[in-house]
Amino acid sequence: MKDNIDPCVKCSICNLYCPVALETDLFPGAKTSGPDAQRFKFSNGVIPEEFSRYCIGCGNCVINCPAGINTPLLNILSKAKYREKHPLSLGERLLENVIFLPSYIDIFSNLINKITNSSFVKKIIFPFLGLSSKRELPYFAKRSFSHLIKAKKLKKGGKKVVYFYGCYTEAHEPEVGEAVVYVLNKNGYDPVFPSWVCCGAPFIGAGNIEKGEKLAKKNIKSLSKMDSLDIIFSSTTCYHTIRDSYKELYEIDGIDDVAKRCKDIFQFLVELNDNGKLNKDFGKIKKRYFYHTPCHLKLLGIGTPALEILKLIPSIEIIKGDALCCGLGGLFGYKDYGYDISVKIGEELAKEIEDSNVDGVISDCEGCRIQVHHLTKKPVYHPITILMEAYKLGDHLSKEI
Ligand code: SF4
Ligand code: SF4
Repeated sequence: MKDNIDPCVKCSICNLYCPVALETDLFPGAKTSGPDAQRFKFSNGVIPEEFSRYCIGCGNCVINCPAGINTPLLNILSKAKYREKHPLSLGERLLENVIFLPSYIDIFSNLINKITNSSFVKKIIFPFLGLSSKRELPYFAKRSFSHLIKAKKLKKGGKKVVYFYGCYTEAHEPEVGEAVVYVLNKNGYDPVFPSWVCCGAPFIGAGNIEKGEKLAKKNIKSLSKMDSLDIIFSSTTCYHTIRDSYKELYEIDGIDDVAKRCKDIFQFLVELNDNGKLNKDFGKIKKRYFYHTPCHLKLLGIGTPALEILKLIPSIEIIKGDALCCGLGGLFGYKDYGYDISVKIGEELAKEIEDSNVDGVISDCEGCRIQVHHLTKKPVYHPITILMEAYKLGDHLSKEI
């Protein structure tokens, strides 16, 4: 594990970019929870892991650290130790595992949605489970992405790419996966779907490193078999976990080769455009959107490729926001101790959106979309569904909840 803290020059710049420390005194900031905690631990044998549960893993500290200190990684290691002494609440464990519901669960989606978001469950069961009753759980789609895509007649004969669609697309937003497939088809590519499991981000982020390793081994084994094909992601979190977190935490054969082949769907489309191969048969979209840059996209260091492509659509107007972070922090915003802090962090973003008078909000990350919708009630979109609309392939095709 690459957790070297020696290059830290104690400048405290990381604290200025830590959205949690800026909103609450319960978290001492990136420097204290990361490099300082490690130094303190080594010199005095004291491990202040209780701070680490407030780290939402956004990475804004790393992005702005002149020495490249990986504080979220240090905090994951601290969380792992914290878990040994403070077992997770039942609710936290349920939440970690809920995304693992198998794809055939979609036949029960209506029932699950009714139960999980009923006022009885939210007001009585959620607090008992350590979850915030103010947060709604994501709705399960009527049909999982894997079921939906099997039923479609897809164009064949194009070049192959791997599409790692991940849990959220599979269970909650199949229309995002559908749009990725249609846009790839439109550009002469046939996606192939690897055998996969959850990338492990919810487990790794909560310090469950062992569980994350089991999942990482399965995914690396499967993706290694897909020869030299590019691996496309529509979730910035899955992409960051597989490309970066796996390498930071684990030693697995084939991990470097898989990491080199990972690409965000819009990074892939920008490359096509740079080579003059992007299909630009776009119709007009006369709408005004707000774009929020996800923290994990910033952490990937690939710029904002979705913006580069969406700006090619005639008549579209896109306002890029400045807010540091949406505040959801994965499962953090669902927890009883995290909800209020999460909402406070998101207030700046919500205000920017309210002030911008837009038709909807675009963001590449499912967590950001969840938080924005929760705070503003505005329609939220993955950028690929907007591109699909520009290709006149349908208006957010299979939104079925
Ligand atoms: S971790 Fe980086 S930004 Fe934070 S105090 Fe150390 S060198 Fe400065
Ligand atoms: S990852 Fe985010 S929340 Fe955690 S210490 Fe860094 S800036 Fe703060």
